[in-house]
Amino acid sequence: MAGKLYLVPTPIGNLGDISRRAAETLAAADFIAAEDTRVTVKLLNHLELKKPMVTYHRHNCGTAGPAILRRLEAGETCALVTDAGTPAISDPGEDLVALCAAQGAEVEAIPGPCALTVALSVSGLPTGRFTFEGFLPLNKKNRRAQLDSLRAEERTMIFYEAPHKLRSTLEDLADVFGPDRPMAVCRELTKLHEEVLRLTIGEAQARYAAQEPRGEFVLVVAGRPPQLEEADGQGALARAEQLRREGLSLKDAAARAAEEFGVTKRTLYNPMLDQES
Ligand code: SAM
Repeated sequence: MAGKLYLVPTPIGNLGDISRRAAETLAAADFIAAEDTRVTVKLLNHLELKKPMVTYHRHNCGTAGPAILRRLEAGETCALVTDAGTPAISDPGEDLVALCAAQGAEVEAIPGPCALTVALSVSGLPTGRFTFEGFLPLNKKNRRAQLDSLRAEERTMIFYEAPHKLRSTLEDLADVFGPDRPMAVCRELTKLHEEVLRLTIGEAQARYAAQEPRGEFVLVVAGRPPQLEEADGQGALARAEQLRREGLSLKDAAARAAEEFGVTKRTLYNPMLDQES
């Protein structure tokens, strides 16, 4: 019988966040594939587990991946872990899952800690629709192209960033989205020095101009406020204002004009509110 690859999330800073199911899966696996065995052995010691380990990381995934797949095909079970968080999210676990999927090997994901969901949930920004952008490309041109593609993005955007690149990333974010765009800088989540700053991009720049960025960061940036389609929007707004003058409440005027012009209420309500305040 073929084996299975288990994706086992590990704490992103607080050992208490390992789940019972994650620990049981590690205990039951035939072997563990770890990004860095020195990091994982600390977790195994905490769980009082001893397990055979192989490494699977960015620099050996081309050969380690097929080797793990062969062991799965021979009937073994493997628990894939990274240094922290959910395997396959911004790490090479993604390639191993794709390889297993392509070769018909079974993969099961155990839910658990992930920096992006922790940051999004605590950010105070809209969570209904979001886009995870991972690490921006290192290459300046590709990085700029990725950010340019997000200029009109209305969903909340989530970025991973290393401390030594934080300042230049904030500069790029300010260029593309403007210094007044709200964001949350989520640092050292679940750790002793956890910090969540809810501010604008410009304020974050000022803060980190004065203070050396240290630790691990997730940046959560508000999406662009919904914009009116020029033609429909202007007509709808004018109609809403007319209805307002006729005595309708702001909410009802926006709703009626939105319905008549086939635009969303929100695109009218906010500009009307601005005009009246
Ligand atoms: N797979 C991991 C996950 O589920 O979040 C992410 C791996 S990625 C290689 C590492 C990045 O995640 C860090 O550079 C940082 O942006 C983010 N990260 C991980 N732990 C964090 C923490 N405790 N606080 C803030 N950001 C964290």
